Amino acid sequence: MIVLLLGSGGREHALARALKADPSVTRLLVAPGNPGTEELGDNVAIDANDPQQVLELAQREHADLVVVGPEAPLVAGVADVLREAGIAVFGPNQAAAQLEGSKAFAKEIMAAAEVATADAATCTDEAAVQAALDKFGAPYVVKADGLAAGKGVVVTSDRDAAVEHALACLEGGGQVLIEEYLDGPEVSLFCLSDGQTVVPLQPAQDFKRIYDQGEGPNTGGMGAYSPLPWIPADLPAQVVQSVAQPVVTELAKREMPFVGLLYCGLALTSNGVRVVEFNARFGDPETQVVLSLLKSPLAQVLDACARGKLADFGPLEWEPGASVTVVISAAGYPGTPTKGDPITGLDAAHAIPGVHVIHAGTALDEEGQLVSNGGRVLSVTAVGEDLAQARERAYQAVEQIHLAGSHHRTDIAAEAVGQN
Ligand code: AMP
Repeated sequence: MIVLLLGSGGREHALARALKADPSVTRLLVAPGNPGTEELGDNVAIDANDPQQVLELAQREHADLVVVGPEAPLVAGVADVLREAGIAVFGPNQAAAQLEGSKAFAKEIMAAAEVATADAATCTDEAAVQAALDKFGAPYVVKADGLAAGKGVVVTSDRDAAVEHALACLEGGGQVLIEEYLDGPEVSLFCLSDGQTVVPLQPAQDFKRIYDQGEGPNTGGMGAYSPLPWIPADLPAQVVQSVAQPVVTELAKREMPFVGLLYCGLALTSNGVRVVEFNARFGDPETQVVLSLLKSPLAQVLDACARGKLADFGPLEWEPGASVTVVISAAGYPGTPTKGDPITGLDAAHAIPGVHVIHAGTALDEEGQLVSNGGRVLSVTAVGEDLAQARERAYQAVEQIHLAGSHHRTDIAAEAVGQN
């Protein structure tokens, strides 16, 4: 199988690793990729958000399967153009990707499919915002309606900050969602879908805030671990039944089949499981931990989704043990990150058993030196016999890596191993 993977972040390096490990993959192309994916396949410098450029590349290289990593190409309609040309693609069409691209659309689908989520009001002016903030009370949850790379949400008890974010979202004619606050631990459950059948992956937890103990602003994600020893064993099956399957069925009914990865962001509240958000693609950095434990051949599984044959696959197989990833971010992140600083110590990190370092925002400079090139720079991932061992290995590896001004959280998976 010739596989073309779109994207350039940590998620794509993790996907590339798992795709490459599938013996049916004879060639792997990554567009545009990063220095980590270059070690696994051929990077091709195109604009992955441009449907025509992607189509030309897929046709020229005779790709059997295109795997779309990030949300932007999906919302730009890349999957639509590939499908129309008869190319198998893992990733939903533009219409179904609105599940992530528009929070208002996601709410509409959940209401129709009777999926439990936070009550919300869609507001288009300040008076409606103030009324909704009064209705739901503190802590306030304020969400931009469009794509914001996981950063368009403010959760705060500070009314002025809530209003300020809402007004910023409304600028230029946008709309903003004000939501009921969901209290409870969060779980990310990835579900594969071929438009009809739904198969869950192993659950994970990510850490969204920049600082330890959940302090500071939201980020794209500062770390993750899997599996979750503290959830009921039947949670994935429950979520498929009450969330993922009804949503996939509702979208099929509307003739916008969801072929790809339905990411269910869930809160386990005292009133049961509630959906916090959907994404239409693998999450970053949860992908790093989930795929490092997957035993089933990833390319074959994604290909089955793309071809409407997921039901032919039995339940997925998993390695025993656990996985932890710790993100190293650049100075300035989640604001404007500093770029171009040298990164050293990767070989020493890789020498630790079970460790693999995933590239996210890295680049090679003119001398071939690895340098920082984004907010989240590396995702240091370790597998172990259990969470405690995986966590210890990941943090040992983080200590080996040097990047001036970098930051990482020290509490990833700490509570789960009883260290908090
Ligand atoms: P989203 O982009 O919708 O995933 O939101 C990002 C993060 O904001 C989530 O992972 C939660 O930590 C938090 N969040 C979003 N919606 C809510 C809510 N209704 N109640 C509590 N926290 C929320």
